[in-house]
Amino acid sequence: MTRSLNGKVAVVTGAGSGIGRAIAIRLAEDTAKVAIWDINAAGAADTAKMVEDAGGTAIAIDADCSDKAAIKAAADRTRAELGPIAILVNNAGIAPFTPFLDIDDDLFDKVIRINLRGPYLLMKEVVPDMLAGGWGRIINITSSSVQTGSPAQGHYVASKGGLMGMTKALALEFAASGITVNMVPPGFIDTPMLRAAPIDADAFAKTLPMKRIGQPEDIAAACAYLASEEASYITGQTISTNGGRYMGSH
Ligand code: NAP
Repeated sequence: MTRSLNGKVAVVTGAGSGIGRAIAIRLAEDTAKVAIWDINAAGAADTAKMVEDAGGTAIAIDADCSDKAAIKAAADRTRAELGPIAILVNNAGIAPFTPFLDIDDDLFDKVIRINLRGPYLLMKEVVPDMLAGGWGRIINITSSSVQTGSPAQGHYVASKGGLMGMTKALALEFAASGITVNMVPPGFIDTPMLRAAPIDADAFAKTLPMKRIGQPEDIAAACAYLASEEASYITGQTISTNGGRYMGSH
């Protein structure tokens, strides 16, 4: 644990469940003040309580992270209650499984809106805070499925692949400004999303090099490193956290 965040303000989207919850808890342990944004208000409130019970600082905000007005309102509340936003973890997402020929246009648009357009809007909203402070950390949660492909997930993989591209583009654009932009693509991580998927996760786990599913805390640890001062010379990079499922560089 680095404890290096010194009260910096972190926004973690989708932090009312699974991976986002673990990231919020970990960044708070590392002394960030954490804003927990989720469309699941009850889950967000539960995460905030977990952070506070552990001695950290958190606020829960009920926000649809694909909606521009909701993002603006959530950012303004975060600034008013905690301060300027220095760390953003774009984690909220949906991951339907749909055979390609059954993907209807509305579903395609919905996946892109939540998984790609949402992070785009979030980054636009918070980058000015980071530029003003001369310091920022953006961490985009993508997916190992971008690296390997995934059947019946053409919409999902397209959305996460777009986010991967935007990660690199913004990493370059802001490299000289003190803002780093990196990506963590999870492999199979034990969350409500994975357990709701139409796959036998435990059987699949046996095919992985490490023979086990990962835990949300594994993703949180990678995010904690990328958010830390120690990671200040790392941008546009990928920390593939996947039990050895994929070993390419991106
Ligand atoms: P999860 O347990 O379903 O948690 C995701 C959270 O995001 C939920 O609380 C969900 O609320 C919320 N959310 C969904 N749409 C939102 C929106 N428009 N605005 C705000 N919040 C929204 O999923 P997870 O497994 O922790 O996944 C987190 C991220 O990791 C996702 O981006 C996912 O694609 C990625 N990922 C996960 C795995 C894995 O194996 N678990 C693998 C690769 C990538 P509701 O529950 O109400 O929808």
